[in-house]
Amino acid sequence: GAMRIDVITLFPDFIESCARIGVVGRARERGLLQIATWNPRDFASDNYRSADDRCYGGGPGMVMMVDPLRKALASVRAASGSEAKAEANAEAKVIYLSPQGTRLDQAKVAELARRDHLILLSGRYEGVDERFLEHAVDEELSIGDYVLSGGELAAAIVIDAVGRLQEGVLNDAASAEQDSFSNGLLDCPHYTRPEHDDWGDVPAVLTSGDHAAIRRWRLKQSLGRTWLRRPDLLDRVELDKKTRALLAE
Ligand code: SAM
Repeated sequence: GAMRIDVITLFPDFIESCARIGVVGRARERGLLQIATWNPRDFASDNYRSADDRCYGGGPGMVMMVDPLRKALASVRAASGSEAKAEANAEAKVIYLSPQGTRLDQAKVAELARRDHLILLSGRYEGVDERFLEHAVDEELSIGDYVLSGGELAAAIVIDAVGRLQEGVLNDAASAEQDSFSNGLLDCPHYTRPEHDDWGDVPAVLTSGDHAAIRRWRLKQSLGRTWLRRPDLLDRVELDKKTRALLAE
């Protein structure tokens, strides 16, 4: 069935509007991806709909409270029946987007994309009460070594990267395979019409019709770019037999 992603966030509108456009939006319309948002304020216990409070120990800033988050999570589980499932990949994984988490990369994205259900928590202010993280969160994920004011952008990044890998989402599955990182290398350069422009010509090999030559050119470009821009990636890349044969031609 379709993958399900629930997002617990103080700014559901942001997630909803991101999830309406482009590849992810189409995937939802076609029923290949299910996305729902949950606002902890809807689970507050006071009339002010409070979901955050001051920091124990003093200092500036607010912290997201345990109870509204716990109730929001319970509602997600009730709505999705996530407790009932037995298969490992079907069990919902609760992810807190956090600068202190494991850094997201394409391998991690591919791993998450194979799951049936993700529950994403976006923080705000100073973050989330540590007790919620200890008891309810399976994993913390960071989108990079910088600090955002909220986890919504980070959650939208996860939704986008994971969503486009769902089966049937991209018109051409090969397009995800040739993207940067999927084979450990950066992608090759791309060109479209016109063939000749004031700012240069399209490399002749691409209009030659020689498919083997085109594959070889693209691979060499990928390798060259990776070497120049991200030599760190080359340490980990294992070229398969077919690829090495192609280079030797
Ligand atoms: N005090 C926290 C710390 O230093 O670890 C940072 C809180 S930050 C201002 C507010 C929220 O933004 C966090 O709760 C988290 O959800 C989100 N956030 C900030 N930077 C992030 C990053 N690099 N990756 C993922 N989420 C991030």
